[in-house]
Amino acid sequence: MSDYKRIKCPECGNENPRKLHEENDKNEVLYFSMQGTPVYKKIIKCGDCGYTFKKD
Ligand SMILES: [Zn+2]
Repeated sequence: MSDYKRIKCPECGNENPRKLHEENDKNEVLYFSMQGTPVYKKIIKCGDCGYTFKKD
């Protein structure tokens, strides 16, 4: 989980991994799994300001 340390909210500068939550971006389906369930792109949501941004 060391990757989390590099994530920072570009909006408010929050770097607390406990307040940066990974979520599925329902607007962007990456692919469908063998079971037919969609795998979504991941986004990070800031728990402080509510801003969402991409991981990369
Ligand atoms: Zn923020």
